[in-house]
Amino acid sequence: AKERGKNNYNVFHSGMNMQTYRSFSLQNDLRRAIEREEFELHYQPRVNIETGKVESAEALIRWNHPSWGLVPPLEFIPLAEETGQIVEIGDWVVKTVCEQINTWKQEGIPPIRIAINFSSQQFLQKDLADMIQRILESNDVHPELIEIEITESVVVENEENSTKTLQQLSDMGICISIDDFGTGYSSLHYLSRLPVNTLKIDKSFIQKISSDKKQHKLIITSIVSLAKALNMHVIAEGVETENQLDFLRNQECEEVQGYLFSKPIVPNMLEEILVQGDYK
Ligand code: C2E
Ligand code: CA
Ligand code: CA
Ligand code: CA
Repeated sequence: AKERGKNNYNVFHSGMNMQTYRSFSLQNDLRRAIEREEFELHYQPRVNIETGKVESAEALIRWNHPSWGLVPPLEFIPLAEETGQIVEIGDWVVKTVCEQINTWKQEGIPPIRIAINFSSQQFLQKDLADMIQRILESNDVHPELIEIEITESVVVENEENSTKTLQQLSDMGICISIDDFGTGYSSLHYLSRLPVNTLKIDKSFIQKISSDKKQHKLIITSIVSLAKALNMHVIAEGVETENQLDFLRNQECEEVQGYLFSKPIVPNMLEEILVQGDYK
């Protein structure tokens, strides 16, 4: 590390290194990020592997910080969880997605289902399902156009509340997906008990398809057959190569998402793809 000048502790609090300072600053600025309109949603298309049709897309939040620039969600979402800001951000995401769907409808563009990510802190909200229902209603959005992505930790960390919320959401007609599947607990117990529609195979498995080790491919094969046995859909994330796509097609994985087709893109670019319809 660089040697510090004698006066540095006047600038930074003693013991505060650059990373701590950045987190401190970001956490502080998060509070005003919504009103300052610094957040943006990008959308990553998901493609039906057989037809090449874009059937849905995942909403991914972006934060354009006035001085730090683009801050990745993997950095600021955990900070927002610590302060509880995640609740307000989550509301903003749902609202923005619903407004977007409504805009597409009004422009005559056939809307597709949009998947929204939720963290465990958000599932501590007792009235989460009511909040989502209110936003759907005020934007005149059909619940079947919304999908919710949660990781297994959401279910395991607050089982009672999350089970109730997931049931309410599912009863409304909202799709439920398990994100990063295969990396967490993968408990068959909760899977059979909860109203889960889709398993999303984590990108770490997809990226190892071309490696020599058979075990990664075996995990994918197992997840696909598990999904089929439980009457669930299966989607693979992080698909970057034709080789990976061919393997997934042979496994009868239904939907794929990844840089091979598109990065997460701004709404207007997604619109162009929607008008065009498919990747064939
Ligand atoms: P995630 O839900 O697992 O999202 C997948 C991540 O992989 C995204 O990163 C996406 O941009 C990236 N990705 C997509 N295709 C490829 C590919 O082919 N190769 C590789 N290497 N990466 C790919 P991103 O956008 O940086 O988001 C990171 C995480 O932040 C997300 O992981 C999710 O956990 C969280 N996140 C993003 N948006 C939201 C949000 O609105 N709310 C909450 N609670 N979390 C969010
Ligand atoms: Ca996700
Ligand atoms: Ca994931
Ligand atoms: Ca437009």
